[in-house]
Amino acid sequence: MFMSHEPAIQSLTHETSLFGKTIDSIEFARNCGQLTGYCAVAELARLQDLVGVNTGVVAVTVVGELDEQRRPWLHLAVRGELGLVCQRCLGVVSHTLEIEAHLRLIRTGEPWPEDEVDEGSEGQADEAIAADEGLLISSLVEEEIILSLPYAPMHEACELPGEDELNRKASPFAALAVLKKH
Ligand SMILES: [Zn+2]
Repeated sequence: MFMSHEPAIQSLTHETSLFGKTIDSIEFARNCGQLTGYCAVAELARLQDLVGVNTGVVAVTVVGELDEQRRPWLHLAVRGELGLVCQRCLGVVSHTLEIEAHLRLIRTGEPWPEDEVDEGSEGQADEAIAADEGLLISSLVEEEIILSLPYAPMHEACELPGEDELNRKASPFAALAVLKKH
């Protein structure tokens, strides 16, 4: 769930590609802007080394806000499925993205907050980012996805690639070992 001061965003649709889309981040917050769309996984350059499959899209919602102290925020939600590489069998392991990031915009010359930025619960984070007149949405999405990914994605149950086959070829005794296991 978003924080209580969050505008409702559930009803927004995600039919527009956000490829190349930029916003003036502080203006967007000041105007309580709402932006929805999708980013194609193939267009998220920094993700390419991390995914095993680069088809599909992630749904993105950005909502701007000024808080009670008139400080500008962007609230970012990212939803989707990524095919990561299992670190045990090197097969594709599906990973569900449910990211909600609360990004406080820091103006040029404004002191960077230290104490106010809390580590949220899993999938949620309050962060500070530099305000940008040409903030590239896909770059923000990339960054938040990378931060959210597991360090070593793995299937719940799988084996090393071709373990049994390799053993059988290597030694006739390996076949016996396989039989004994059952
Ligand atoms: Zn695996």
